[in-house]
Amino acid sequence: MPASVSARPESALLEQIKNRWSREPLQHFIDNRWVENSTRETFEVVNPATEERLAVCASGGKAEIDRAVSAARKAFESGPYRKWSGRDRGKFLRRLADLVEKHAEELATLECLNNGKPIAELRAVDLPMTVEVLHYYSGWADKVHGETIQPPGNYFVYTRREPMGVCGSITAWNFPLLLTSWKFGPAIAGGNTMVHKPPEQAPLSSLRFAELCREAGLPDGVFNVVTGLGETAGEALTRHPDVDKVGFTGHYQTGQLVMKAAAESNLKRVSLELGGKSPNIILDDADLDLAVRGTLTGIFFNQGEVCCAGSRLFLPKKLHDPFLDRLVSAANARKVGDPLDPKTEQGAQISQEQFDKILGYIEKGKAEGAKLASGGARCGERGYFVRPTIFDGVQDEMAIAREEIFGPVISVLPYESLDEVAQRANATCYGLGAAVFTQNVQKAHSLAAKLKSGTVWINCYNAFDASVPFGGYKMSGFGRELGQHALELYTQVKAVWLNLGS
Ligand code: NAD
Repeated sequence: MPASVSARPESALLEQIKNRWSREPLQHFIDNRWVENSTRETFEVVNPATEERLAVCASGGKAEIDRAVSAARKAFESGPYRKWSGRDRGKFLRRLADLVEKHAEELATLECLNNGKPIAELRAVDLPMTVEVLHYYSGWADKVHGETIQPPGNYFVYTRREPMGVCGSITAWNFPLLLTSWKFGPAIAGGNTMVHKPPEQAPLSSLRFAELCREAGLPDGVFNVVTGLGETAGEALTRHPDVDKVGFTGHYQTGQLVMKAAAESNLKRVSLELGGKSPNIILDDADLDLAVRGTLTGIFFNQGEVCCAGSRLFLPKKLHDPFLDRLVSAANARKVGDPLDPKTEQGAQISQEQFDKILGYIEKGKAEGAKLASGGARCGERGYFVRPTIFDGVQDEMAIAREEIFGPVISVLPYESLDEVAQRANATCYGLGAAVFTQNVQKAHSLAAKLKSGTVWINCYNAFDASVPFGGYKMSGFGRELGQHALELYTQVKAVWLNLGS
């Protein structure tokens, strides 16, 4: 980190990053070395804040996935990694955590240019949490073990917790490096090897991460990165007969394709981290300052490109006007713009496609009769910036209240009673996050129990930690990332029976 985290990234660093990643076309990182694509196919990576080309990546397909899977298989079955004890893997994860920390400013700047999110958030959230996740799983690596069981009869039974084998990982663009670490940490702690397909919009930090893995001493073939599009590289990975498991983060529609491909190939294990339409419920006794702050974080953090964003705000009639007044003035005061400016609170949306989609939803909201209380338009002339947008008078059946927008757009939904609000909050196909703001402990816990959601935050929003499981109910997916639970996704249990004689 620079001497002052309140400074812009240094211009020498910016130049170095731009020069390095604009060398074209970039290659895949397979078996601990840079590997050329088998065809001339490429795709462009754009800086969403300037709409300028940042890099040209190799567009991998079946041939590159085959090559990466075979390197990962070899490393898993017979490479030096096979001989690593859990303690060795833990030591490696600690070395890697230290290296990521050492290169945090470089990685934050690279991600900022590639993703468009504010440098301040990268320095305060993405990078520190990536380091924490690696540290956390370094602690687990030598604690993955089985149990002994005494069934009836003269037997001694023990279980072994073994790795899955070769694990595919396919991730979304909203937290490119952090989401990679969420899969990498438990996969390595569990003794697996990996083939990672980063998002085509933001693949650069994954490539740099792979280099750091090599520098930290990870043997050949253990972590491989193939850049490419979902329908080619992603599809090839999910259909590969020698991949044992795929951890996927993205849209539920893509999750369905992943499950189908897994089912039709080798029944590889699948875990899915998908989208959401999360309710944020304010009770009439809530601490208003806290609830407004939580609501802002819930919807506008990371430009609203958060799977668990609190995009449905349930307000009791009594609080509607004062709460909305505060929310609107806070939203209007947010600093939207240059992600490299450390004072920026909201950066650019990831792509033209996402930008158009968000503006399309805003038009739909207006056409369906919702009342625009703030924002509702692009910000500036260049770059994919959208003003923080608040819709009032939203009805449950409107598209903006039902569908995931994945942008800085919140719908205000008035309600009358607690029973009604719980039922309406649950009336969605999603179930990822939910929040309740109240000073009444009984009401808080009784609502938390009723909400069909993998996470419920009480008097906070978007609180995360490496030790706390995160994942979905319903069509928000299954399997839990982070915490001890994630190890269950990357290990399998074997029971060994010993006959002790008659
Ligand atoms: P997406 O589904 O379009 O893409 C996600 C990944 O899947 C990308 O790497 C893409 O290349 C790949 N992909 C696309 N088609 C594929 C196919 N046929 N086979 C295999 N892979 C394929 O999603 P996105 O637009 O990148 O991300 C946004 C979505 O991700 C939102 O719905 C968001 O809520 C969700 N998300 C969920 C979490 C979570 O933890 N639950 C976290 C971040 C994002």
